[in-house]
Amino acid sequence: MLSKKELKRYDRQIMIPGFGAAGQEKLKKAKVFIAGVGGLGSPVALYLAAAGIGTLRIADHDTIELSNLNRQVLYREKDIGEEKAASAAAKLKKLNPQIKIETISETISEANVAKLVGDSDMIVDAMDNLPTRYLLNRTAIQKNIPFFHGAVYGFEGRAMTVIPGKSACLNCLYHGVIVPEEKTPVIGVTPAVIGCIQATEVIKYILGMGELLTGRLLNYDGLRMKFTEFSIKKDPGCAICGKAPGR
Ligand SMILES: [Zn+2]
Repeated sequence: MLSKKELKRYDRQIMIPGFGAAGQEKLKKAKVFIAGVGGLGSPVALYLAAAGIGTLRIADHDTIELSNLNRQVLYREKDIGEEKAASAAAKLKKLNPQIKIETISETISEANVAKLVGDSDMIVDAMDNLPTRYLLNRTAIQKNIPFFHGAVYGFEGRAMTVIPGKSACLNCLYHGVIVPEEKTPVIGVTPAVIGCIQATEVIKYILGMGELLTGRLLNYDGLRMKFTEFSIKKDPGCAICGKAPGR
């Protein structure tokens, strides 16, 4: 049941046709794992907290640096040197004290990824490197939970939603290719656009509303202000989500 305060707080979204108090209760029951609270993770976490997702489990091993502040909107100059997960949690708690925030300040690795994701209902990919993205994609397939991919470069970004067993996964898209990622250029508005698309997908998935960004990669070009879609088929021979995984 929603409290009087919750009904008031979420009034403007509850009134969306098809949403209702029942939809708000679904958001309240959900537990979302956010991998990374940097450029993408900041808007994802902020908007999911504002929307009233019951539990956010945020993982980031980094500390805040001056050069993060052009895009990682959860942090302030006085936070430099603090752990991102703890600092993010403090901000999100101030925004919405009614939700639960769990923090993890560990590096996501092959050895700990399943434990870190734990009993979360879904994974948001707000990472900055492909090896960890693949690891999270595989974990989502193994746990049979959705995976919300997002990535940015300069003024460009992309997003895709993966529903295990139903739509193409990250490995169907990139085939395990690793591109060396060092320091990537990025302007803060780009992860804001892509992070909000990922958060929208999470909310839609939980509510069971609309059409998800599955089987299609959405590409955003901020300089030309164009959104382009690429159809991505599920690969039956995919080593991660195919018929004989692990080949
Ligand atoms: Zn696949």
